[in-house]
Amino acid sequence: MSSTVEVRVPDIGDFKGVEIIEVLIAEGDTVAVDDPLITIETDKAAMDVPATSAGSIKALKVKVGDKVSEGDVICTVESRPSAVAPTGRDSDATCELLVLGAGPGGYTAAFRAADLGRDVVLVERYPTLGGVCLNVGCIPSKALLHVAKVIDDAAVLADHGVNFGAPRIDLDGLRGFKNEVIGKLTGGLAGLAKQRKVRVVYGAGRFLGANHMSVESPDGAQVIHFKQAVIAAGSSVVRLPGLPDDPRIMDSTGALELEELPERMLVIGGGIIGLEMATVYAALGVRVSVVELSDGLMPGCDRDLVKVLQKRLAGKCERIMVKTKVTSLKAQKNGIKVEFEGDNAPDAQIFGRVLVAVGRRPNGHGIDADKAGVTVDERGFIPVDHQMLTNQPHIFAIGDIVGNPMLAHKATHEGKVAAEVASGHKVAFEATVIPSVAYTDPEIAWCGLTETDAKAQGIPYEKAQFPWAASGRALALSAGDGFSKLLFDPATKRVIGAGIVGPSAGDLIAEAALAIEMGADAADISLTIHPHPTLSETVAFAAEAFEGTLTDLYLPRRSK
Ligand code: NAD
Repeated sequence: MSSTVEVRVPDIGDFKGVEIIEVLIAEGDTVAVDDPLITIETDKAAMDVPATSAGSIKALKVKVGDKVSEGDVICTVESRPSAVAPTGRDSDATCELLVLGAGPGGYTAAFRAADLGRDVVLVERYPTLGGVCLNVGCIPSKALLHVAKVIDDAAVLADHGVNFGAPRIDLDGLRGFKNEVIGKLTGGLAGLAKQRKVRVVYGAGRFLGANHMSVESPDGAQVIHFKQAVIAAGSSVVRLPGLPDDPRIMDSTGALELEELPERMLVIGGGIIGLEMATVYAALGVRVSVVELSDGLMPGCDRDLVKVLQKRLAGKCERIMVKTKVTSLKAQKNGIKVEFEGDNAPDAQIFGRVLVAVGRRPNGHGIDADKAGVTVDERGFIPVDHQMLTNQPHIFAIGDIVGNPMLAHKATHEGKVAAEVASGHKVAFEATVIPSVAYTDPEIAWCGLTETDAKAQGIPYEKAQFPWAASGRALALSAGDGFSKLLFDPATKRVIGAGIVGPSAGDLIAEAALAIEMGADAADISLTIHPHPTLSETVAFAAEAFEGTLTDLYLPRRSK
């Protein structure tokens, strides 16, 4: 069944006769709902006008340079349920390169391959592109963390003579802001796929053999034949066994939905996700407790960095319990009753909500990779070489599914390598460091060698540190408790590791990552003029401290 519908210019605010600067479709093209059709430019901004119906473009009614107003017809669409709806086995498709999974790794691989002239199909099981990162991970959490930061900053201003009073939280409005950020990004991705002629097939993909995959969706199934494939199927949250099935026990996706603000919330897991969400909910007025199994928050990160965060969190959270485990969770009418065991275990407590954030595991099982002859280890990881090739010479794997760290920026770089190798380029994934960032308050960021690893593995290093208490900019930001440290190879004096705690640490760490990739030494950093007064100076000052040229502090033993 198909029907022809007119797609018109929607309400674009107080504008009439707005110029079309780009037409993104042609007659015969297939579009999905929200795919951009044209770009118009007002005197304030350029904006895409999205499709309101899915199907194929029957007649295009506009061209570049036309002036349009609300209600003008852009095109007619012969509507079908979805852009590339699987409609049964007889709708088999072929492509040169199939990418399974449209997270940051997958869409990057697909787009790069398309830019290299490849015929690409991108398979995604959820209705929007962007994967966990854009839909239920990095991006929505950063939208909420921004709000949390503003609330916390406003509270600090009360000590500086400016009192805004207690915030009034409109949860629907906050959720709307977060969803708007997600929508802009995922809609933008659909547009980028369209512009590159990457065909997106929505449905769950499973390998049927070395060169074909079945994609199933509620609308039906289809088989896609491919010459090469990139597996970018990501990871899923680890579930604790034996938990009651109750909506008040959430994973990170549930926590980001912001259904309600309970009076008290327990976060199980003091890793990055747990602490980021604890930061958000505490700022929104929830009394948050964190329980962590190991002997410290954020295992893997140097303790001196974590100490600064933990001190701040202790002031915001009701209780932080390390070396403690949850022994039972029981759903009751008045909340979730939790029992604890361990060094810092309190008596049983009732929480309105519980967030379980105890890690993620790869999705290697569940895509029938064995039918394509691809090796998957017992944990679900797919082993790859430095060109992202699996044990099959035409199948690549990237992102969370190939190993830790499970970070979007690692996946995007791997995605580019896979696309380029698949297209005949002689390249490899050879990054020296992959930065880690916790977007908590304060942020913690590190890259390269950590002191913890250096000590555990007996790796020699020298260290220089700059306390933010001596940075005017940091003091103005009430961030005098932060610091920047650099680790050096004692033989070459090159930077081999860095750690930063304080606002914008996640942005500042990029300079250290570049320094390590470029083989920079302390002089390379200290002789680079950093703008004053900025937090970026603290990295240069750490290098000066190593050089013995620092004047913003007095370090007698180091002066040369
Ligand atoms: P994680 O592995 O980083 O932390 C999980 C924490 O839970 C650990 O500290 C662990 O000791 C603890 N834990 C495990 N079992 C427990 C139990 N039964 N009781 C109490 N504590 C327990 O996992 P995560 O925070 O869920 O993050 C998952 C992945 O996503 C990680 O790879 C992380 O790097 C990535 N991630 C990155 C970012 C970022 O870059 N900002 C943000 C979110 C997630």
